[in-house]
Amino acid sequence: MNTRQHRNIPEELRERLRSARRVFVLTGAGVSAESGVPTFRGGGHTAVWKGMPFEVISSASMVRSNLPEVWEWFDYRRGRIGECRPNPAHETIARWQERFESFTLATQNVDGLHAAAGSRGVLELHGNAWRARCLKCGNREDMREKQRDVRPPLCAECGTQMRPDVVLFGEMLPERVWISAAERAAHCDLCFVVGTSAIVYPAAGLPYAAAEAGAFLVEVNPEPTPLSEMCDVTLRGAAGEILPLLDD
Ligand code: NAD
Repeated sequence: MNTRQHRNIPEELRERLRSARRVFVLTGAGVSAESGVPTFRGGGHTAVWKGMPFEVISSASMVRSNLPEVWEWFDYRRGRIGECRPNPAHETIARWQERFESFTLATQNVDGLHAAAGSRGVLELHGNAWRARCLKCGNREDMREKQRDVRPPLCAECGTQMRPDVVLFGEMLPERVWISAAERAAHCDLCFVVGTSAIVYPAAGLPYAAAEAGAFLVEVNPEPTPLSEMCDVTLRGAAGEILPLLDD
């Protein structure tokens, strides 16, 4: 493993950035930390809501047993996210879509901040907290346009209760999004893993697919993760400080 302090960007990485043709970036909650969106893990802490660990409140079984509570949690999260703006990490990643011949951004985040920074075609592996999905007909609606006082919100098409359009613990990823991400990861020559604890599967498997295909693997995270050992370069520090340095 090649671990560097963030001000010391290895020349080999700069050279890879110059020559890369197909770049794949996987982001996690850490990329939004400097925007003020709390992560679930990191810094020795794990998120808790009303005494419930996030794996419980953000679970498929909670949707079945207590949908109103799930909405309360997501209303709280959207309240936090709504006050946040993209940071230099989101902005750098958005610029990269013009920089490389082929560029793919897959995110585990549900906050919409990559799109707000200008990224297009973001593969949202875990959905989007701003959307609701009908439990019966699958109709999707933007929560910014729904009445706040009806919880759970009701589908405009069929009147059935809706749930947040996010992938909760114990649920499958949206198939088409997942297939696209897996294909792009397996065909990239440079792969960045930014701000993810790399323990939530199947998303955490994407960098392994990239490495298996021979890609150069770079991790950006202030803390070590299970992925660190196999990375070609590990840049320890905050994504909002490190990624802009790669644009110099
Ligand atoms: P995580 O909470 O498990 O891990 C966050 C990681 O970010 C940690 O490894 C931490 O060391 C790192 N980190 C903290 N500050 C950073 C910074 N400034 N720059 C770079 N890295 C930093 O997040 P995860 O791996 O994405 O997985 C948890 C799940 O939680 C995902 O499914 C995700 O959808 C969800 N989640 C999303 C958001 C969001 O949308 N912003 C926020 C919290 C959790």
